[in-house]
Amino acid sequence: MSKVLLKVNNLKKYFPIRTGMFARVTGHVKAVDDVSFEVYEGETLGIVGESGCGKSTTGRTIMRLTEPTEGKIEFDGTDLTDLSNEDMRKIRREIQMVFQDPYASLNPRHTIEKILEEPLIVHGMGDGAERKKKVMEYLKIVGLSEYHAKRYPHQFSGGQRQRVGIARALMTNPKLIIADEPVSALDVSIQAQVLNLMKQLQEDLKLTYIFIAHDLGVVRHISDRVGVMYLGRMVELATSESLYDKPLHPYTQALLSAVPIPDPEFQGDQMLLTGDIPSPSNPPSGCTFHTRCPFATEECKQKAPNLREIKPGHSVACHLYNDQ
Ligand code: SF4
Repeated sequence: MSKVLLKVNNLKKYFPIRTGMFARVTGHVKAVDDVSFEVYEGETLGIVGESGCGKSTTGRTIMRLTEPTEGKIEFDGTDLTDLSNEDMRKIRREIQMVFQDPYASLNPRHTIEKILEEPLIVHGMGDGAERKKKVMEYLKIVGLSEYHAKRYPHQFSGGQRQRVGIARALMTNPKLIIADEPVSALDVSIQAQVLNLMKQLQEDLKLTYIFIAHDLGVVRHISDRVGVMYLGRMVELATSESLYDKPLHPYTQALLSAVPIPDPEFQGDQMLLTGDIPSPSNPPSGCTFHTRCPFATEECKQKAPNLREIKPGHSVACHLYNDQ
């Protein structure tokens, strides 16, 4: 087993809801509610769920782009929750993010060269000539050419812009990349190219990924393990093989039913997810999935299930497996 690079313990992120003239706090949106998981060096952990399930907030909280309400985040032996802003700024050299919309995250007035050089300047890495050399090297690494350096973001296609976004994340030689829906805005044909590039870079540069997506189909081929989130909680966490072969949580089963199955002979049950996702400011009691779950019982309405390992490498939070 590889070493644990990131350890997230009982992470919570509650956003206050303020109302009235005095902006009094009248409630909280529980975006992330007691989430724990580990990420091993060199692996890809996929985090999946519908929009509003807390997956992006989890990613941003690990980077402390948004401050956690409670919990501990340990990266490579350092407790990030204890770090000063200055120390956290330094450690961001080793944890980088790739965003869904590279157009929004790339300064439109800067050339690609300037965009890629910026993280090196921020972290005081190299002199002018060394930085320029590295920009050219990383343009090639992500499948672009040196002549692209003088161009501006609007002169690129969506797929090329995401390659720039990936190159920018790699400039500081990070160990961990948190990719938040990195292919969701791209055409399906381009998605495969970008996913293949990320896989190749992971091998070549020994990277560790957290790959956030709303679609289980997208993370399937890139993830070693997958965590499924629902209303701020991790409801299932398993190796990809085990999760796609035999999903245990009814929510995961429903999400997988929504993924088109390329095999016309497929005889498995299709389970459709009905109803809207409840508001995280007022989540249902007990198991928060009970309002949409076809197997819900009285116990489910009253008691929240804990995430438990049911078989090696496969954990689930569901009362259906209480006896196992
Ligand atoms: Fe459904 Fe109950 Fe399991 Fe929740 S605990 S997923 S409501 S069966």
